[in-house]
Amino acid sequence: MKFNTKTIHAGLSADLSTGAIMTPIYQTSTYVQDSPGEHKGFEYSRTGNPTRLALEKNISALENGKHGLCYSSGLAAIDSVIKLLKAGDEVISTNDLYGGTYRLFTKVFENYGIKFHFCDATNYENVLNLVSEKTKLIWVETPTNPMLNIIDIEKITLAVKSKQILVCVDNTFATPYLQNPLDLGADIVMHSVTKFIGGHSDIIMGALICNNDDIAEQLFFLQNSCGAVPGPQDCFLALRGIKTLHVRMQRHCENGIEIANFLSKHNKIKNVFYPGLINHKNHDIAKKQMKNYGGMLSFDLNNSSLKKAEEFVSKTHFFTLAESLGGVESLCGHPASMTHAAIPKKERLKSGVTDSLIRLSVGIEDIDDLIYDLESTLKKV
Ligand SMILES: *Cc1c(COP(=O)(O)O)cnc(C)c1O
Repeated sequence: MKFNTKTIHAGLSADLSTGAIMTPIYQTSTYVQDSPGEHKGFEYSRTGNPTRLALEKNISALENGKHGLCYSSGLAAIDSVIKLLKAGDEVISTNDLYGGTYRLFTKVFENYGIKFHFCDATNYENVLNLVSEKTKLIWVETPTNPMLNIIDIEKITLAVKSKQILVCVDNTFATPYLQNPLDLGADIVMHSVTKFIGGHSDIIMGALICNNDDIAEQLFFLQNSCGAVPGPQDCFLALRGIKTLHVRMQRHCENGIEIANFLSKHNKIKNVFYPGLINHKNHDIAKKQMKNYGGMLSFDLNNSSLKKAEEFVSKTHFFTLAESLGGVESLCGHPASMTHAAIPKKERLKSGVTDSLIRLSVGIEDIDDLIYDLESTLKKV
């Protein structure tokens, strides 16, 4: 099955009892048993729920994976991956990381004796230099948030292949439409389903996908033991969103490159960070491992100050100022004070997240309206 068919059909079938073409919302906590232990495959909805199971099968198919697991948020999914480790283990990650992931690593799991190293992983040798016998996990986010750096997934997985180190890729920005990390050798793929996969800014959800049966068994054990599972209503909304993922992503990409080109030529803009631009420092890697370049970009204003950046994001019309990304509507954000406020300024600046950096999540509105919005806002600041 090709990707554009999988979004609509993979893992799904009409409801056997009624013929309902859409997966029903099984809003139930428990299931009747005929005699103790004799049931139809479901016992209790933390352990398993038919609506969730349909979504998990569908999402795993999108990533060309064997096993899929859904969680009540992206961070709950990440939490589960780190719980595969134990005190004394070490993790290597990228310095340009989603703020909430950084907070979970450093403010929660450091307290449990897990050590985290951060480096510029766009050069995979920086990662290799940090590997020791204690290293158990490499956590990669690509494209990174908010600098849109691209990390070579295949190079990293090949380099640690013989070492019993798991590689997990946060594939939220790319979505399975643009990039499939399992095919590039990664062990686990993570998604904030909240973003492009859900696509309509109406749910909070996370997912993990993997191929290895042992890893999957441990993750299923943790999912059931820790209990951060999504409800059936949200699983239904995610399934509904996924049906148009390929169509939405195509338009996100078309609008993304147009806006990147527009901003690159504008005299009030200093830098535009978009992996689809030929002058982007990791454009070659992006071209190799992604199908297209997505709807996320960031930029710095000329001679820009914190005040000007704040003015810009408050004055746009269609680009609404809000946290989050990946919905059909365009959003803008100011990473230094919003999504990345949890990262100390010194760390932020190291990876280029200046006080004046602005991030756009380009939606699927008409491109003329979006460009008009940016053009008229730039005139005002
Ligand atoms: C939003 C996001 C997360 C966290 O997901 P939630 O669903 O908000 O918990 C993790 N990684 C990236 C790249 C994100 O954008």
